[in-house]
Amino acid sequence: MPQEVRGVIAPGKDEPVRVETIVVPDPGPGEAVVRVQACGVCHTDLHYKQGGINDEFPFLLGHEAAGVVESVGPGTSEVEPGDFVVLNWRAVCGQCRACRRGRPWYCFDTHNARQPMTLAADGSELSPALGIGAFAEKTLVAAGQCTKVDPEVDPAVAGLLGCGVMAGIGATVNTGQVGRGDSVAVIGCGGVGDAAIAGARLAGAARVIAVDVDERKLRQAESMGATHTVDSRATDPVEAIRELTGGFGADVVIEAVGRPETYEQAFYARDLAGTVVLVGVPTPEMRLELPLLDVFGRGGSLKSSWYGDCLPSRDFPMLIDLHRQGRLPLEKFVTERIALDEVEHAFDRMHAGDVLRSVVVF
Ligand SMILES: [Zn+2]
Ligand SMILES: [Zn+2]
Repeated sequence: MPQEVRGVIAPGKDEPVRVETIVVPDPGPGEAVVRVQACGVCHTDLHYKQGGINDEFPFLLGHEAAGVVESVGPGTSEVEPGDFVVLNWRAVCGQCRACRRGRPWYCFDTHNARQPMTLAADGSELSPALGIGAFAEKTLVAAGQCTKVDPEVDPAVAGLLGCGVMAGIGATVNTGQVGRGDSVAVIGCGGVGDAAIAGARLAGAARVIAVDVDERKLRQAESMGATHTVDSRATDPVEAIRELTGGFGADVVIEAVGRPETYEQAFYARDLAGTVVLVGVPTPEMRLELPLLDVFGRGGSLKSSWYGDCLPSRDFPMLIDLHRQGRLPLEKFVTERIALDEVEHAFDRMHAGDVLRSVVVF
């Protein structure tokens, strides 16, 4: 029987979001219905509401979620009812060239649930944010979007691994390959940058330098494990990073802003043959200009990190376990817990830079 539950809808460009009754169908083959326990409010949800992602309104927002599998469709082997899971953006196909080469995080043919969820009022189809749509009491996803983790963890904390926090940790640990004793600089200390800092600490980096223009964010970066901070309004960050690394530059620089000027800072703030990881997301009109001789002469590697190059089945349970051991302070990303009807207010607070994450708890 299809179920009626409450969910947060973005009805049209720049219109306030509102709670509506939505219809969640029974899971079909390869699908699962998940009873959502917690879902974080992310900038990407705001971008959907503003029409910045696409114009397939109405959207069912929410995508950083954890919950319990309620039911699964026929022939589903990934999870079973009762499993506590963290949701991810996309189920991998297992068949494409990337999957067959053992690199499923680059899968070319990812998928979400095939059946639509709809508005109860008029039957219109909903576009779930990032294929998830978890500001709802229940949601329908592809079973491959569910990753089982230790159920002892706080769902508000676990859900954050589904997006920004994983992107940041993965940028350092997976893409940047930070190792024990490395020096790491992180430019831009919002949620993703702070997660990169926590990831660098987890990986054993000896020196973790946080760079931002906002004093509040630098203090927060320290609480995540930054050993040094640089206010780039007051100081040239490239000079400051070199000074803090014996004149060399950092082994790995994480660019978590996604702008040409901060990318250039990252490029020159690394040691010879060092690594730059771009995890901040640029906009289409941005252009980068660098002396090609410097790109060649300085060696090393310039990488981009999509979703932290994560493999949910490998990374989510591991990071939850490390969190449970007290080695990864994921709880610090949860600034406040809110109700389903407070998402619009949470957007305002996020916009003002007051919170790292507001998390809807059910
Ligand atoms: Zn997100
Ligand atoms: Zn694939």
